[in-house]
Amino acid sequence: MSPPPAPPAPPVYRGRLAPSPTGYLHLGHARTFWTAQERARAAGGTLLLRNEDLDRARCRPEFVAAMLEDLRWFGFTWQEGPDCGGPHAPYDQSARLDLYRSAFDRLRAAGLVYPCTCSRRDIAESAGAPHESGVGGGDEPLYSGRCRPERLDAAEQNRRAAWPRAGHSWRFRVPDGRRLQFIDTALGPQSAVAGETFGDFVVWRREDLPSYQLAVVVDDAAMGITEVVRGADLLVSTFRQLLLLEALGSPAPAYHHCPLLLDAAGQRLAKRHDSLSLRALRAAGRPPADLRLAWA
Ligand code: GLU
Repeated sequence: MSPPPAPPAPPVYRGRLAPSPTGYLHLGHARTFWTAQERARAAGGTLLLRNEDLDRARCRPEFVAAMLEDLRWFGFTWQEGPDCGGPHAPYDQSARLDLYRSAFDRLRAAGLVYPCTCSRRDIAESAGAPHESGVGGGDEPLYSGRCRPERLDAAEQNRRAAWPRAGHSWRFRVPDGRRLQFIDTALGPQSAVAGETFGDFVVWRREDLPSYQLAVVVDDAAMGITEVVRGADLLVSTFRQLLLLEALGSPAPAYHHCPLLLDAAGQRLAKRHDSLSLRALRAAGRPPADLRLAWA
């Protein structure tokens, strides 16, 4: 008699650090990243570093170099990344545009996105009120839906159907009223209602670049990420990303959202808090091990 088939091997844990080089990393980033590193280690998994450098106006090469140096100084190690390569190279988002374009083309072919010509000002002026009971109350104004195809006359719809990708933004049309849920491995059960907690969101930008939402979903899926560890400021975005993953036919990873580090005045740490940048702490001779002890 042949032995029973072996049960399928559990997926190997793959986590990521995904900083944007728009300034120097600070202690808040380090704390979230430390959690990501510890979770990958505890699971005997792989941690990769992805350089999220799509924002051409704000990302600078000197911040990329500083980011790698500061992370190493603090005690981070990664097994795949822009500096060491790996099976999913390149690890710089600016070198992965073809992947984002093809994901966008699939969304467009499926009729899940539409072009939007609204300016920032139009959006602020016509925004619906963020839903009060929503997760975090929403993180950007709720889009009114003014450029949704059914709001346009037939001639305008036909005209827009022939538009190229560049020159206007493209929004993902959310399924209004649908409740989305997931269990966060740090925060427990989370839920949101599409069209109330958040509205139609940008997946492609006027400058012919993917939005953060699209790029991160394409990369997390392509790089086989099994758990996303990041700051709780991205909780609402997780629901957007779950919709995109579903639309692209990719499985959702687990999510672990870490509480944000606050300064003495109760304000969220930001790249402008220079004294808490890893650069400044290093220059001031603060040993990383002591900084980590303070979190305990
Ligand atoms: N690059 C993003 C940021 O620095 C984080 C992306 C993510 O963790 O999903 O805010």
